[in-house]
Amino acid sequence: PYDYSERIGRVEPSATLAISNLAAERKAAGADVIDLSVGEPDFDTPETVVEAGKAALDAGHTGYTSSNGIPELREAIAEKLRGNGIDATADEVIVTPGGKQALYEIFGTLIDDGDEVVLLDPAWVSYEAMAKLAGGTLSRVDLAPHGFQLEPALDELAEVVSDDTELLVVNSPSNPTGAVFSEAALEGVRDLAVEHDFAVISDEIYERITYGVEPTSLASLDGMADRTITINGFSKAFSMTGWRLGYLHATEEFVGQAGKLHSHSVSCATNFVQHAGVEALENTDDEVEEMRAAFEERRDLLVDLFDEHGVDVDVGDGAFYMMLPVDDDDQAWCTAAIEEAAVACVPGSAFNAPGYARISYAASEKRLREAVDRLVSNDLL
Ligand code: PLP
Repeated sequence: PYDYSERIGRVEPSATLAISNLAAERKAAGADVIDLSVGEPDFDTPETVVEAGKAALDAGHTGYTSSNGIPELREAIAEKLRGNGIDATADEVIVTPGGKQALYEIFGTLIDDGDEVVLLDPAWVSYEAMAKLAGGTLSRVDLAPHGFQLEPALDELAEVVSDDTELLVVNSPSNPTGAVFSEAALEGVRDLAVEHDFAVISDEIYERITYGVEPTSLASLDGMADRTITINGFSKAFSMTGWRLGYLHATEEFVGQAGKLHSHSVSCATNFVQHAGVEALENTDDEVEEMRAAFEERRDLLVDLFDEHGVDVDVGDGAFYMMLPVDDDDQAWCTAAIEEAAVACVPGSAFNAPGYARISYAASEKRLREAVDRLVSNDLL
């Protein structure tokens, strides 16, 4: 009875699904699977945030909110963005159920059939799907030969973009590489965006998880305020994946357009969750620092362990991922890793980076050591 849309046929189910299905099968069969495939912190949401959510429920904050979000949260977000050097106001913010929804709204607001969207590979899986759903045509620049950094790839980016480019997606710190792009790299992006008059999404969702570097917010650079859409969210920084809370920031004019998509789809983000979001932004610096420091120790541990086994990893200064170089057939490697070693990782191909496996180090040091031991004893390293 279903005559599926041409649009839905353009996208595949998430490539990470195959691995999580295999992992689930193995777990059900009694295997002790070490899951390094997950994109979520392994910490509890900070207690005061949970309390704020409960208090909001008790106070009856259970109805719809204004579509773009409660004023207190939009103001707290604007304040936070001003700390990033972005001249933000509350009216330039849409609060969304997760950063993903913010991205979806941006693609839907900007992309017509045939519009060119430029991605920097390896790129997070959903950018491609969202661009295709909106009708966009993809162009790509591969950062893998450059140690996953953008600065040495600026010449290649300059060759790819043109006056026909509609949108470039920048994600720093990056999922899946952990790379944090230098200010010079982002200035290079700015120069190209201004020259060719295109818009840029700056996905800064891993911004609070960095190691010894200060990430630059693209919209803070001269010339970028009115062509950057910044997205961010609460999932990673505050370990709030299941709460579903994120936001976009852009010009008020853009927010007016995207707000139509927002109000006609989700109406608003969950009311009491928005109240908890204010607490997360304002009162969790210590908890965020604890999680950040734990990730840094785990990253350093993994790099040492891989190094002991002669594997050199282009490790980034942010997020909680690294790309492990594996066989050319990374799908087969990841299947073997789960079937033989009971270690789950995501094939690099999912991010348009064949020859790598993405390791998430949102796991305890004990489990990380055990994972490396298992890979070694099964000749996978
Ligand atoms: N952007 C990147 C790069 C991500 O890795 C994720 C989550 O995995 C998101 C955005 C969306 O996160 P959420 O919708 O949970 O805010």
